[in-house]
Amino acid sequence: MIINTKNIVSCVLLLLCMHAMRLDAFIVRVCIDEGDTTCCPDNTIVTLRCKGGFIVEDYQNAKIKKSITKDTLKLTLIAGDLHINGKKYFLDCEETRNDEQKKEIHATSPYIRIKPIKEDACIGWNGNRYDGDFVCACDHDSYVLTNWLDSELYVAAVLNAESYGKWGLEVNKAFAIMCRTYLMHTLLEARSRKKKKWYDIKCTNAHQTYNGTHDCEIIWQAVAGTSHIIMGHKGKPILAMYDVCCGGVIPAYHEGINFVQEPCLARRYGCDYCSECKLYRWRATCSVANFEQRIKKELAKQYDLKGSIQSATVSKADAAGGVKEVLIKGNKGTLARVTGKQMYSWFKQIKSQVYTVKKEGDEIVFEGKGYGHHFGLCQWGARSLIRDGKSYKDTLHFYYPGITFMKIEVI
Ligand SMILES: [Zn+2]
Repeated sequence: MIINTKNIVSCVLLLLCMHAMRLDAFIVRVCIDEGDTTCCPDNTIVTLRCKGGFIVEDYQNAKIKKSITKDTLKLTLIAGDLHINGKKYFLDCEETRNDEQKKEIHATSPYIRIKPIKEDACIGWNGNRYDGDFVCACDHDSYVLTNWLDSELYVAAVLNAESYGKWGLEVNKAFAIMCRTYLMHTLLEARSRKKKKWYDIKCTNAHQTYNGTHDCEIIWQAVAGTSHIIMGHKGKPILAMYDVCCGGVIPAYHEGINFVQEPCLARRYGCDYCSECKLYRWRATCSVANFEQRIKKELAKQYDLKGSIQSATVSKADAAGGVKEVLIKGNKGTLARVTGKQMYSWFKQIKSQVYTVKKEGDEIVFEGKGYGHHFGLCQWGARSLIRDGKSYKDTLHFYYPGITFMKIEVI
């Protein structure tokens, strides 16, 4: 289906912001890896692979560059100095032949851009293939590795990690608009920060999972069929959050989002279309011994929880059932209070924010609804709605009430 162009507002503001920052309008900078040499064997911070080799350029002056015709490029940081394939970093201007001039213009900043020599080649990192270029920024013993690529290529790659090609074209069109909107919201926020970073978005589920390119035809069609379309509210991209299965939890009653800033996340009606998902209702257990060990370790400074744990129950929750506090009782009336966020990060058995806790014999039992944070689009629900005949456009309206479709244009 083609989106009615009357309903699409051009997102000029977005482009003005990008233009002002002197960055290419549609190039996304994705953080692939960051860290320091203490966690790198042999001080090797990055190993890239590319058939046909690489061009390494100075980040600030593309004339300063050199070709590396080997298929592997290894970057090491030794005592603050960057080395490429074992040799100390030095780039010179290929146009210059005079040694004196070479001295004057050699690159001194350890910020390098890495491109494939062959234009249609992908760069390999950690078993995945990536479109676009890589930029590596080093500072003494720390580094940030980023992948710079066209926003539509990024959206197609994210969909492969966050969606399922076999769910069909229409549902992937909905997800393509959602992932693109999430990108644009995050990118605008990143580029308007006072303290700039080397990247716009992370490659993990802290933002959106991104593992490089792929050959899933349906996903490429879904991205092409919704090219540059995003969801907006009052002329700005919305925070298009999404999760795997909402479990029927009503987001407007769930705390954790500023609904004044993000009114399209305040859905006041339920989605029960995800009931086919195994995690619509879930049950998980943890031995009392393991539970006790973790709680005592984490809370040793705060509470003196004596003896063995007698009970654990949810003591505070929001109107949607989102856990705010769990009360744990030890021997002799001792108590400990744990926040919902702490519970979620300490116990991987907990799949979502809405759950109950109880002690049954020598087990702690968690029973909950859905998988994720319960805000925005529910992927299993959207799949079911679209399978039952709803359009991808109406499905997005259902999960994000109040949205307008907008098209990003190059100006
Ligand atoms: Zn749902």
